[in-house]
Amino acid sequence: MAEEQQSYQILLYYKFVPIADPEAFKDEHLQYCKDLGLKGRILVASEGINGTVSGTVEQTEQYMRDMKSNPLFADMVFKIDPSDGHSFRKMFVRHRKELVTFRVEDELDPNTISGKRLSPEQFYEQLQQEDVIVLDGRTDYEYDIGHFRNAIRPEVGSFREFPEWIRENMSQFKDKTILTYCTGGIRCEKLTGFMLKEGFQDVAQLDGGIVTYGKDPEVQGRLFDGKCYVFDERISVPINHTDEDIIVGKCHHCGEPADRYINCANDACHLQHICCERCEELHHGFCSDTCEEAVVAG
Ligand SMILES: [Zn+2]
Ligand SMILES: [Zn+2]
Repeated sequence: MAEEQQSYQILLYYKFVPIADPEAFKDEHLQYCKDLGLKGRILVASEGINGTVSGTVEQTEQYMRDMKSNPLFADMVFKIDPSDGHSFRKMFVRHRKELVTFRVEDELDPNTISGKRLSPEQFYEQLQQEDVIVLDGRTDYEYDIGHFRNAIRPEVGSFREFPEWIRENMSQFKDKTILTYCTGGIRCEKLTGFMLKEGFQDVAQLDGGIVTYGKDPEVQGRLFDGKCYVFDERISVPINHTDEDIIVGKCHHCGEPADRYINCANDACHLQHICCERCEELHHGFCSDTCEEAVVAG
């Protein structure tokens, strides 16, 4: 029995709820997670918690039970993925000013202002309506390996660039129906609140994000093309479980369809780039000849 391979799970969750002393909570929570044997990354702020952790089924089930026994997190929604092992190397709990770094002038409290929440079925139905604008609420490199069909690709390398990008590029759509989505839903909570404050009339978000959409037995990930970028060692996960599953990424070297990100083998560069298997072999995992020469000349 001891030799038998253990099953693991990856949890993804967030909750906007006031935490009185986030610094003390952080210290306590880190110790608790380490004692439990979890690995992953958790952010704590005075506005709430946002985490993704991996552990054995037993450890992660214990974690969810313990969290739900805290009145603050009693209704927290956990997205659960099965896994062969840990998907993180370490356990981090960090105290941040914001759960998602947005840095707008006014505070945005999703419990006060946020876009309409759409279930996967509602979102799928809305996607097929005429005259809706679908905005990807993630960064450009996440978009590049997978996104909803016909979604707008925001030219932002980090979430904090969104406010400026929206002011410059989306203002002509203020009277349209806007649909936004992100990985697990947390970024849209802020993004849609910001857009409503900016004067957008009709803004809705995919509740639970792409990850939840991919698990929905009715829609089965329909109209999501490519894979969903995730912030753990898996790098990306499949979403569309119908036979429409296609590759939308392009190899950094040859331009052929590819949907795997690798990090440049030059540690000084480490550029994450989409690379087909053939080119990975051909270029020895480097993003450019310059990087390969730098290391070989070493
Ligand atoms: Zn290639
Ligand atoms: Zn490089």
